[in-house]
Amino acid sequence: MSNSPVPQKLSLAARDLDVVWHPCTQMHDHETIPMLAIERAEGAWLHATDGRSYLDAISSWWTNVFGHRHPRIVAGLKDQLDRLDHIMLAGMTHEPAVALAEQLVRLAPAGLSRVFYADNGSSAVEVALKMSFHYWRNQGRPSRNRFIALSGGYHGETIGALSVTDVALYRATYAPLLFTPILAPSPDAYLGEIGESAQEHAARRLIDMRALLERHAHEVAAVIVEPLVQCAGGMRMYHADYLVGLRALCDEFEVHLIADEIAVGFGRTGSLFACEQAAISPDFMCLSKGLTGGTLPLSAVLTNEAVHAAFYAEYSAGKAFLHSHSYTGNALACRAALETLAIFNDEPVLENNRRLAAHLGQRLLELADHPHVADIRQTGMIAAIELVRERKTRSPFPANERRGLRVYLHGLERGVILRPLGNVVYFMPPYCVTTAEIDLMVEVAIEGIERAVA
Ligand code: PMP
Repeated sequence: MSNSPVPQKLSLAARDLDVVWHPCTQMHDHETIPMLAIERAEGAWLHATDGRSYLDAISSWWTNVFGHRHPRIVAGLKDQLDRLDHIMLAGMTHEPAVALAEQLVRLAPAGLSRVFYADNGSSAVEVALKMSFHYWRNQGRPSRNRFIALSGGYHGETIGALSVTDVALYRATYAPLLFTPILAPSPDAYLGEIGESAQEHAARRLIDMRALLERHAHEVAAVIVEPLVQCAGGMRMYHADYLVGLRALCDEFEVHLIADEIAVGFGRTGSLFACEQAAISPDFMCLSKGLTGGTLPLSAVLTNEAVHAAFYAEYSAGKAFLHSHSYTGNALACRAALETLAIFNDEPVLENNRRLAAHLGQRLLELADHPHVADIRQTGMIAAIELVRERKTRSPFPANERRGLRVYLHGLERGVILRPLGNVVYFMPPYCVTTAEIDLMVEVAIEGIERAVA
């Protein structure tokens, strides 16, 4: 082992680039793009080692619902650290895991009464896929071993979750490693025909889904969707009627419905869970990200009694569900989640968000006639702007022109973290954001867009 001291003269960013390999990054980019070295965060703001501050307009990859270091979550975590840090969740339990499961069952759509923990979003998706497959196997129907996913959907980047993801950037390279889902065309309103409403498009896409189920239901375990907003696929939004119709189709064809609420859960779309807007209960609901208020990794898969019962048998029947992560149900993370739910319970979060979302929508009207903006869309505290080469034909800018990156770089100059998804500039701020901060992020985005399309 080398005893050479860390060269303290180098900046944190320089030391980082010597040893850390970053996610979702071509590391070569950092020859020109600065690495932000953040030493402190508070509310909607990140403070860097060079004294600069940045408004976190995308909630640290959509995790940070109440702002950084929310006093209540910080206090809960300190208290929890003095009691119990982490134990394995096999054969033993602890108060935060039980209390959190009780709360989630109370808050979730009716019928979701069992909680299985994991420790990140992708793992929750793996759990839901495996559990659905295993349910059918336990029921004596092992041929139901395929999944239907939506075009443009994203469910994570582990092998199973990536298999049901349809975003080429993440999937194409690894395709030989993946299983092949049955892809149904997305109800994404942006893809509707000219003059077709989001609702009409949703209805048309349900006809496609019915056709797929008629052909494939005998071999399908579950349909997996991101309710209301396909986030990583470009903040593509669709009408809640699609979820209503999809639930009915899944019932008719006896197929499970998996709602991946990892990005849209916890108030993001205007209701605590997006499924509420369609008044449906999925068979599996995956939660993560905002679950701990953006402090610690944790995920949960909620399911119903029928699924639980299919696994409940004498040991010798060999029906037990097998999926175990060392940090399943981590006590600190569960405690952070309990504090997060307490904030939702005690403060008028959704009501405040309605006001903030209305302000954000109002400010974006400024771009309504922009020649390089094809669409401005919003669902609750998610708003997105679709940049195109030509508004009339909606012809996209080629991806390799990296127009979104120019918006990102302009944001850095002005102290706002915007991280466009390709040519989609979006806002997903923490709920503590003020109207003045919304004004700032919109102003900076508009300046960035002008630079990007020039
Ligand atoms: N599903 C959805 C809808 C997501 O947005 C994400 C993360 N962007 C995931 C799954 C994967 O979560 P994680 O990054 O924690 O693995």
